[in-house]
Amino acid sequence: MENDSEHLKVAVRVRPLLEIDKTTDSIISIPSSTEIQIVDSEHFIKSAYDRVFDPSSTQSQIFDFVSPALNQALKGFNCTIFAYGQTGTGKTFTMFGQHESLQSSEFMPSLSPSSGLIPSSVQHLYQSSKEKSLTFYCSFIQIYNEHLYDLLQDPKRGKVLSIRESKLYGIFVEGLAEFVAESTDDCFVLINRGNENRAVRQTRFNHHSSRSHTIFQMSIESDKANKKGLIKKAKLNFCDLAGSEKYDKENNMIRDHVKELTQINKSLSALGKVIHALGTGSSRHIPYRDSKLTRLLQDSLGVNTRTILIATVSPVPNFVEETISTLKFADRAK
Ligand code: ADP
Ligand code: MG
Repeated sequence: MENDSEHLKVAVRVRPLLEIDKTTDSIISIPSSTEIQIVDSEHFIKSAYDRVFDPSSTQSQIFDFVSPALNQALKGFNCTIFAYGQTGTGKTFTMFGQHESLQSSEFMPSLSPSSGLIPSSVQHLYQSSKEKSLTFYCSFIQIYNEHLYDLLQDPKRGKVLSIRESKLYGIFVEGLAEFVAESTDDCFVLINRGNENRAVRQTRFNHHSSRSHTIFQMSIESDKANKKGLIKKAKLNFCDLAGSEKYDKENNMIRDHVKELTQINKSLSALGKVIHALGTGSSRHIPYRDSKLTRLLQDSLGVNTRTILIATVSPVPNFVEETISTLKFADRAK
């Protein structure tokens, strides 16, 4: 059994100031590559993580942080990578890359420096698997209001899927499409399709994708059977989580939004508890069943798995409370 620090890694990424921020003030300073500090008239907070990425960090630096976990997935360990944070702080940017490149029907034929973790991980996996005979399967799941949907097969969100468990397969989603992807391009086509469906839904139902969790799942099958004669399949999950923001007390929220936020808070808090239990190595009851997200990821968040949490924050003074709340979540996860 390897030590816990191998098991769970927590990073914070601070996004750069953007034009929409309409300010040049930043409340964040980064004294070292593992520390972050928030200083304004009311706060002085300093905390440390496995890694803190400053606003100038590149997509490839994030990839380098994650790649050891990818190598573990290639060896058969289940791995999960989360992007957690307030809407607008760079979760989707970190996971997928710039939106433009994802929504064009012609997906980037080669990677660019702005490609996110998922495309560069896909490339890494295929490059590293040349000598081994591995088969890759892709699925794309959305969890909205505690309901699971298939982003590759069901763009209209017509069918709610159920999570099942069997001795043979572990946790699985009944009826979820799993496409064999023979090349990086096959994967990119699927990622693109899922993202397009995500965008279609957003306008059709006027729901922001920021209020749902999106999980791109790759299963890696090795043709070597294990001791029990079973073919081994490792799961690699990339989770672009729903925005972690709190209720907006200033604006009267419509009832649907309150419901959405209640469900999001419930599942993010369940996730926090599960990750915390992993970090402390606690063998006490782990509340996987408290949310669809943790239940879905149950066999990827436990013994012999790898988990990476990337907490994204904005540097602007206006969002200081949300930033502190995100840092606390990441803190509890450690
Ligand atoms: P989220 O998914 O958390 O809601 P996005 O990924 O959509 O946030 O990011 C919000 C905006 O900020 C987007 O326009 C995105 O391109 C930009 N952005 C986020 N992170 C970065 C970054 N590290 N560098 C440059 N632009 C970024
Ligand atoms: Mg997003």
